[in-house]
Amino acid sequence: MPVYEYFCRNCNKPFEAYYKLSQSEGQKSSPCPVCRQAAARVFTPIAIPRVERTDSDLMDDPPEYRKMHYYEKRRDWRRAADAAEGVSEYAKQKFLQKAQEEGV
Ligand SMILES: [Zn+2]
Repeated sequence: MPVYEYFCRNCNKPFEAYYKLSQSEGQKSSPCPVCRQAAARVFTPIAIPRVERTDSDLMDDPPEYRKMHYYEKRRDWRRAADAAEGVSEYAKQKFLQKAQEEGV
């Protein structure tokens, strides 16, 4: 079964989904396994191994995402939640939850 790669803008994370060959046409989006939002398919040539996202890749993100991820990396959940305000309600809730868990 072919594997398709998708990118969830909401979680800012890639994921993979399997579809039967007969279903492969038109699977231009797939629900994100985390937040269930429709995520767009990304075309990854199969022969080329997927590379992990690096900091320089993050520079391609919109500035508001960049700020959010900057604080996320530093586990500064309160600031990350602030940065997620108006960007991703899902991410904001996630950061606030982390902040509570870690008692910061
Ligand atoms: Zn998602």
